[in-house]
Amino acid sequence: MLAAALAFLFWHFLLDYQRQKAETEAYIEAATYGSLLRVELDRELNSLLFISNGLSSFIKVYRHELQQEKMQAILTDLWSNARYVKNFAVAVNYKVTYVYPEKGNEKILGIDYRDVPSQWPKIKLAIDSRQGVLDGPLELIQGGNGMIYRFPIFVDDHYWGIMSTVIDTNSFMQSAFKGVHNPQFAFAIRTQDNKQVFHGDATLFKQKNIFIMRSRVPNGKWEWAIENKSMQSLPSRRLGIVLSALLSVLIGGLAYFFAQERYYLSEGALMDSLTGLANRRLLESRLNYAHSEAKRDRKRFGLMALDIDHFKAINDQYGHDVGDEVIKAVAARLKSNIRDLDTVSRLGGDEFVIVVKDQQSEHALIQIAVKLLDIFNTPLLINHREILVHISIGLTLFDPDTEVTLKQLLKQADMALYQAKHRGRNTYSLWK
Ligand code: GH3
Ligand code: MG
Repeated sequence: MLAAALAFLFWHFLLDYQRQKAETEAYIEAATYGSLLRVELDRELNSLLFISNGLSSFIKVYRHELQQEKMQAILTDLWSNARYVKNFAVAVNYKVTYVYPEKGNEKILGIDYRDVPSQWPKIKLAIDSRQGVLDGPLELIQGGNGMIYRFPIFVDDHYWGIMSTVIDTNSFMQSAFKGVHNPQFAFAIRTQDNKQVFHGDATLFKQKNIFIMRSRVPNGKWEWAIENKSMQSLPSRRLGIVLSALLSVLIGGLAYFFAQERYYLSEGALMDSLTGLANRRLLESRLNYAHSEAKRDRKRFGLMALDIDHFKAINDQYGHDVGDEVIKAVAARLKSNIRDLDTVSRLGGDEFVIVVKDQQSEHALIQIAVKLLDIFNTPLLINHREILVHISIGLTLFDPDTEVTLKQLLKQADMALYQAKHRGRNTYSLWK
């Protein structure tokens, strides 16, 4: 569990760090692309400024001899050089006096801007600030949609009139960004004040992992949403968590498996923790060995099942802790009276099993049982207290000429033990 938790944290942080790094790089790329777009836009907006400045200078110089034809000629020339300009309009004072081209824009001739509430505030702003103002995109009086660049003209420090350049938004954007198109990025632009998206996919502003930037336009601000499409291929946070969890479970499982393996290979896995005797696992292995050895060498071996008599009474009288000490003392006494090549094991509770190797006769096996019963005629010394315990023993002999399995052999010893108990305890019984 601990390994899995640590692995989860490790993978989670590693994947998250990688993802964040890639995300930051993608943002930086988007920001770099954004600056490029901004430069291109500024360049295109400057061309508007040049056109307006040019006309403004012309008006200042020829203000006393302004004639319709001269204005038409210069507006025609300017118009032919700007691909995205829908039309120019020049208002003397506040009244639209010249329009080029006239066709299709007749409606605005003669209009007083102060009577157009939707446009007047921006025009007033241009006059008051004495600077160009980019308005829109908006619905045009003459129909259609576009952006209007208003440029106030001052002559001898007095307001003379205003020049309006109506721009077709789409062609302006195309013209501005044609040199920097990059399929890796998508972007949308909206005005900051009314959040109206006029270029690109409006949903970009609502998506995640989008780089947002602001830019200045004459007397206004725009907001940009720039998507770096390489971000889509980044694994999501959720996927990162799922991946980390899977890896952690795997690592946790492996750690558990190895810990388990280590434990099984260690001595502790084969020993009874209370007495230090062989446990059931080691007994099975020793029995298997004795069994195959006996079969191979045509020898017999003995199996003893032992159980302390009235052990519950000891527990009840002295308590469980003393009971434990009694089990330990019985174990030690059994062990010290059995040859090292034999196996003394504790199966649990007050039950023991002994494998006695190379026993050719029942008689020899019985002699050992009698000896074991005899050693318990001396009381055990537990915490300075003498406690007399007896045991009962069930005996059986494995004969290689029979087809008795180990399971059956253990059962036989158990049944013999039951018999010994039945006979009054502190005795042995041989399975027949
Ligand atoms: P019998 O002569 O029939 O064997 O009677 P008994 O009282 O010994 O009964 P039995 O062998 O069936 O019960 C063994 C008891 O040992 C049952 C349980 O309360 C107790 N016991 C089992 N494991 C432990 C242990 O690890 N420590 C202690 N102190 N007592 C245990
Ligand atoms: Mg018992």
